[in-house]
Amino acid sequence: MSIVYLNGKFLPIEQATVPVMDRGFIFGDGVYEVIPVYGGRLFRLEQHLERLARSLAEIRLADPLSPAEWRRCLQEVVSRNAHGDQSVYVQITRGAAPRDHAFPKDVQPTVFIASSPLKSLPAELAEHGVAAITLQDIRWQRCDIKAITLLANILLRQQAVDHGAVEAILVRDGLANEGTASNLFIVKNGVLVTPPKGSYLLPGITRDLILELAAVQDIPHREACISVTELESADEVWLTSSTREILPVTELDGRRVGNGKPGLMWRRMMAVYQDYKQLVRERGEAPAQ
Ligand code: PMP
Repeated sequence: MSIVYLNGKFLPIEQATVPVMDRGFIFGDGVYEVIPVYGGRLFRLEQHLERLARSLAEIRLADPLSPAEWRRCLQEVVSRNAHGDQSVYVQITRGAAPRDHAFPKDVQPTVFIASSPLKSLPAELAEHGVAAITLQDIRWQRCDIKAITLLANILLRQQAVDHGAVEAILVRDGLANEGTASNLFIVKNGVLVTPPKGSYLLPGITRDLILELAAVQDIPHREACISVTELESADEVWLTSSTREILPVTELDGRRVGNGKPGLMWRRMMAVYQDYKQLVRERGEAPAQ
């Protein structure tokens, strides 16, 4: 049975309910995080908590818990759901109030934490990679906030699925910024490139870890805008996220990327990433090495 945290209580998921006037339900007025758990340890917890605090500040919602309380509640959800690797979902909304766009006064935010088993990535991935398509980004100007309002991402992802692809890479003004639920990397002439942080992409925790690992491994890397032309002529294309790690894109808009197989740089980074995960599993969080 899955145990969740809701507004101060730990309870079976079937008993966890929120009022229909919750602003998350009515407006999508809230933010969230997804944190992977390996061997019972919350991966990159510090970074996820920092991003959560930033998202809350950006939507002007006071953080309902202190960092110590977050740690305690998250760890408790993890230990009460004793399945193997987990994916922990955290959501905070502005709470329940009569429907009005302006912020309500004196309303308690809704805080929800749930955990589900983290599926391991299919083995054929390393063999074949995945297909992606490019689409115009129809989202708003604040993609740096991890908002629960995800309708545009949903419509874009479904368009990708309808085309037999796993992800859509989103383009604005001729620049490829990120996927619907992932960050973008390319490899060109041995250099790893990812777009700089800004309001058109989410500052991904996996993205930052890959840059840290690249620095430690002396892999040439830089943060720079990626034009559609650069994307189309890349030797490798990757999509990164906490739950899907590093996906090698081997087909883009129906054309082969590189030689149509997951690239050498992807193999190297995947190995380094798995080693890092293993270290965290055994010893807890450590600087990238
Ligand atoms: N961009 C978007 C739009 C996302 O939804 C996600 C995943 N939540 C990411 C990037 C990747 O972020 P992370 O590595 O922190 O999972």
